[in-house]
Amino acid sequence: MAAEIALVLGDHLTLENPALARIDRARDSVLMIEAPGEARHVWSHKARIALFLSAMRHFAATLREAGFRVHYLEVDDASLPASLPERLGHFLATHAPSRIWMCEAGERRLADALAAAAAARTTPLTSLADPHFLVSMEAFSRWAGDKSSLRMEFFYRHVRRETGVLMDGDAPVGGQWNFDADNRKGFGAKGPGLVPTPPRYPPDAITQAVFATVEREFGDHPGSLDSFGWPVTRAQALDALHRFVEERLAAFGPFQDAMWSNEPFLWHSLLSTSLNLKLLDPREVIDAAVRAWQERRLPLASVEGFVRQILGWREFIRGVYWHWPDLGRLNHFEHHRALPAWFWTGETSMNCLRDAIGQTLRHGYAHHIQRLMITGNFALLAELSPQAVCDWYLAVYVDAVEWVELPNTAGMALHACGPRFTSKPYIASGAYVKRMSNHCKGCRYDPGVRVGPGACPITLLYWAFVDKHAATLSANPRTVTMTSNLERLPVADRQSIRTAARDVLAAIDSL
Ligand SMILES: Cc1cc2nc3c(=O)[nH]c(=O)nc-3n(C[C@H](O)[C@H](O)[C@H](O)COP(=O)(O)OP(=O)(O)OC[C@H]3O[C@@H](n4cnc5c(N)ncnc54)[C@H](O)[C@@H]3O)c2cc1C
Repeated sequence: MAAEIALVLGDHLTLENPALARIDRARDSVLMIEAPGEARHVWSHKARIALFLSAMRHFAATLREAGFRVHYLEVDDASLPASLPERLGHFLATHAPSRIWMCEAGERRLADALAAAAAARTTPLTSLADPHFLVSMEAFSRWAGDKSSLRMEFFYRHVRRETGVLMDGDAPVGGQWNFDADNRKGFGAKGPGLVPTPPRYPPDAITQAVFATVEREFGDHPGSLDSFGWPVTRAQALDALHRFVEERLAAFGPFQDAMWSNEPFLWHSLLSTSLNLKLLDPREVIDAAVRAWQERRLPLASVEGFVRQILGWREFIRGVYWHWPDLGRLNHFEHHRALPAWFWTGETSMNCLRDAIGQTLRHGYAHHIQRLMITGNFALLAELSPQAVCDWYLAVYVDAVEWVELPNTAGMALHACGPRFTSKPYIASGAYVKRMSNHCKGCRYDPGVRVGPGACPITLLYWAFVDKHAATLSANPRTVTMTSNLERLPVADRQSIRTAARDVLAAIDSL
């Protein structure tokens, strides 16, 4: 019988990958494909490319040690076509395997293109459900039913009940489903104090070879490799988990929304890359956090706040991505403006955006509130095209895979999907940035000024947005206070907000 292939994609780097269990190690092979097309599909950050390639090469070594035969196609092999599906087609033509097994892709574009490449060579391809997630797609669809709008909070409670995580019988431990009220602290004028340094994993020979390839093949791409220290093996990912639980989880909760200049990581876990590459299983991450509460009495608000991100948000977002195939095409507000050039350089006078984009280019990382309430808020208020913004987020973050990036960007940050899974647009004026960070101190713009010299563009655009969408915002109990503040303004002030907003948006590249 002709040999079969387990196709292992770059974000399925676990021995639990179900395709591996379908092949016979003595007869069949694993196929792993690096493809320049994947780095260029969006203009990917160098660190994002390096992370995928390095983790893939390390995993190929793990597979070989486990007795698998591995065909490995390297990104700079000029004898091969550029795109991943074409490389698969080329392999099928030259090796003629009798069938392909793979774990379902994390992106619709790729899933469809791989299926088409296999069909073109009449090679049967079986895409297997991904056991990494706690909630299967069938279970998510059962929960979602035919509801036209879905809310994370209800999903999260449902999953807590189903899994028994942080439950005391039918009730949530501590008597509350969430501790958001304790978990939204800023640092005050004194700042965060001493922040524990998160672990970095110095590049080994494999990673250094990847760096050389990335600089050679993708030298014009955004971002830098200088600070790269992401876990690229399961052992490193487990160490990163351990260090987070020991050193940073206790303070994760209260400060998860806070920001501070030149403090890119604060108490965040930095585990999204390891989870998304499948170096870590979400169950072991949740278990480690819950054990820290049970055995070491870490604060419940922090532990629940962290568990909610993984058991709640991460699973919900993944369900939403596959539930609604059209998310990437939606444009609720019909926004079409191109990204300002400084999104790719960080060179803007707005301190908050300079800090968030600057650290993104340096590390490929910004934490949730920076993504949602700094770059995301600006993109929404400035009426940037959701598709252009989604491409930017997919390109610049090391943890970006479309199933998680798209619903977060289009749905959560830009409200481009309307009320399907967010109850309101997440917008804020400069006052929020001032409360949650030190960015406004010494900024050229004053968050308290709407119009005129020194006016903060975020404050101005916030008021212009509220003015433009007053009718819908006042009809929503969660946003009605925004419009009641607006209604107190004299008509002339509202007119000057509109005029000033038009001028600012016309000069967006020079902000
Ligand atoms: C506009 C926008 C784009 C985003 N794009 C991505 C992306 O491409 N990839 C990605 O993994 N996350 C994305 N997120 C979610 C979140 O910002 C990141 O998961 C988080 O910042 C990663 O850093 P961390 O590991 O230190 O997270 P922590 O703050 O320590 O949180 C713990 C974990 O919870 C999970 N998590 C938290 N929030 C979310 C969420 N909203 N959706 C899914 N998982 C969540 C992550 O796995 C994360 O590692 C995005 C959020 C926004 C607002």
